[in-house]
Amino acid sequence: MLRKVLYIDLTRQESWVEERQKLFESWMGGTGVGIRLLQEECPPGTDPLSPESPIILSIGPLNGVFPVATKTAATFKSPLTGNLGESYAGGRLSLALRFAGHEAVVIKGRAERPSYISINDQEVRTKDATSIWGVDAQTTGIILRDREPGVGRRSIIRIGPAGEAGVRFACVMVDTYRHFGRLGLGAVFGSKNLKALAVSGTEHVDVPDIKRYKAVYNRLYRAAVHTEVMEKYHDIGTSVNISVLNWLRGLPTKNFLLSSFPEAEKIGGEVFAEKHLIRRFSCAGCPIGCVHIAALKTAFSEHHEFEVRRVSYDYEPIYSLGSNLGVKTAEGILQLIDACERLGLDVMSAGVVLSWATEALEKGLITEKETMGVPLQWNEVEGYAKALNLMVRAPNEFYASLGRGAEYAAKKHGGLEYAMTLGGNEVSGYHTGPASIVGQLVGSRHSHLDNAGYGIDQKALKKPMDLETMVEEIIKEDNSRGVFNSLVACLFARGVYSEENIIDSLGAVGIIKSKDDLESLGERIFQEKYKFKVQEGFDLSAARVPRRFFETVSASGMVTAEMVQEMLGIYRKKRGWS
Ligand code: SF4
Repeated sequence: MLRKVLYIDLTRQESWVEERQKLFESWMGGTGVGIRLLQEECPPGTDPLSPESPIILSIGPLNGVFPVATKTAATFKSPLTGNLGESYAGGRLSLALRFAGHEAVVIKGRAERPSYISINDQEVRTKDATSIWGVDAQTTGIILRDREPGVGRRSIIRIGPAGEAGVRFACVMVDTYRHFGRLGLGAVFGSKNLKALAVSGTEHVDVPDIKRYKAVYNRLYRAAVHTEVMEKYHDIGTSVNISVLNWLRGLPTKNFLLSSFPEAEKIGGEVFAEKHLIRRFSCAGCPIGCVHIAALKTAFSEHHEFEVRRVSYDYEPIYSLGSNLGVKTAEGILQLIDACERLGLDVMSAGVVLSWATEALEKGLITEKETMGVPLQWNEVEGYAKALNLMVRAPNEFYASLGRGAEYAAKKHGGLEYAMTLGGNEVSGYHTGPASIVGQLVGSRHSHLDNAGYGIDQKALKKPMDLETMVEEIIKEDNSRGVFNSLVACLFARGVYSEENIIDSLGAVGIIKSKDDLESLGERIFQEKYKFKVQEGFDLSAARVPRRFFETVSASGMVTAEMVQEMLGIYRKKRGWS
């Protein structure tokens, strides 16, 4: 397998391909290759929204070859946190990149006018996007589907108005219902005048021993569909966790003022499944179908016809735009998810920004003058929908500050103690205990998916664990996910890809790795990411933990600032940092 990187310079309208065998041999693919390319391409102190700031998309050796290896890693400098930007998306993108023969793509520069990139095998063209600039992300996809070749082997990723306007948590929509959601990749696209990227190809993958490949494939496929490993993702999906976390008192409610929501049973996964679910959907190459799609009936305007919109949902949007905003109907949550989709906003950040603003208004830090009369109140769905639009349009200084994230807005207006961010990123939907807080704080992208600290808290509920063991688990999980995200498989398939299965599947495509090789790769990837973060100003010892975490009871009882500091001390020692 020839392992190549495609470079695209939007300013000079040039592209070229380099063989980078050594890079892939040392760093596997996905996030491993992504962080190394970021180090090469992003000089210290680069403005994330400048032409010099790179966008890196990378896949790994299992994409397009084995089931549930469906993700593409995006690596960039985050305009939200000012350091490492890292996001993953499914859909068809990894398959399209594989068919086009590019394991990584680096995009730099800034196009003179709104543009989109079209990659078809080795042909790379920059095309005019003036007519679709300002168009929402979903409609942009529909328009480009008619213009671009490669049906069935093609992926189209694009931004909405939020990315064009430089909202720091704008997302990139990937095909249908998938996203590079977190840390503002959409704004980086927008800063380059880059509306979209369409990829298609006709190449195929050679495997050294077809018999061995089939045997490994069948084993993985069986584990995915004939065992219980992935059942929960297909059935009700991750939204089933609403009732579980509510019962545990770990469901953030009204900006973490509470950890359980009295109306939780009205917004649980079971309600969505019974009343709104119309179909399930899969990323290309996945037999599971965990993407749940609901029908949302809305009126075009008063006294006019209705339309039925399809909206995907799972646990995180139901938390961030539901319990976190006190929204007590599934329809209300779907309406807000749909508004974020149209605008191209990351739903998690959007919800946390709105919950901070609601509390700030309640406490008088801001007034209706700033909100321009929009009623930002718990469960006020229409008001929230208006505020999302205003965040993107930024008609005044207040809405412009919301578009820069909760931490920025709180630094400007007050209420930092309840601006729910860790490492500058709006937090995910878990108030399960100390491991969730520390896990998100030390994770390279400040996501619950870095090391699943929330899962460690839940383990500790069943079998008590001391703080040191929790830290060890965080490190172990973080390192192993570095490898997983280099393959690049869907994190839901961790149960399918045991260490033995990873080694076998790599062997089947001609890559020989031992258990020790993988362990050391995970550690190296993590350290490289941290090197980049520190270079760009991240300082773990100065990182802020919102006081609210210590004021609201979690699933593990009250968490104290001392517990978190103790864990951070142990963490630094175990990572070998001074
Ligand atoms: S489990 Fe879900 S998110 Fe993961 S690859 Fe399959 S459909 Fe996509």
